[in-house]
Amino acid sequence: MFRLRWSRPHLLEILYQVTARVVWAANPLIRRAGYGRVARVVKGPEELAKQVLFGCKMCGQCVLHSTGMTCPMGCPKNLRNGPCGGVRADGHCEVYPELPCVWVQAYARAQEMPIYGHEMARIQPPVDRRLEGTSAWINMLTGADRNTPPGWVPLDEVS
Ligand code: SF4
Repeated sequence: MFRLRWSRPHLLEILYQVTARVVWAANPLIRRAGYGRVARVVKGPEELAKQVLFGCKMCGQCVLHSTGMTCPMGCPKNLRNGPCGGVRADGHCEVYPELPCVWVQAYARAQEMPIYGHEMARIQPPVDRRLEGTSAWINMLTGADRNTPPGWVPLDEVS
């Protein structure tokens, strides 16, 4: 699908922040209407908008704001915590040498993000494949995107 190349990470993080606030403000209404029912309505527009802006793969656990407003699922290895060891000297992908590494881009873009850029250091949990194809906005409201496997402890909580 057509993907718009958007090179204004600060503008995108502001857009994300505003959208997240609106979604959280609407949460009482959405809960009353039923998360499942609202998800059926918002999934299409969410997918379209994120596809165009970020090449979204609808993983259902959006971490864009923590990864330089760059979709980590665009990495052919689907890595969520930085690049593999195969990044080429020119910053391109090991698997698709014609493409820049998603994580090289993510890091560079995070430097231009005063609001969320520091979240690049946050360790992301493993992707829950059961959420694929579902609305990440609704999963944020229900907390489904924060469910982690038993025993999973983020590094910053290990004492
Ligand atoms: S992190 Fe997931 S929901 Fe967010 S843009 Fe990427 S594939 Fe889509």
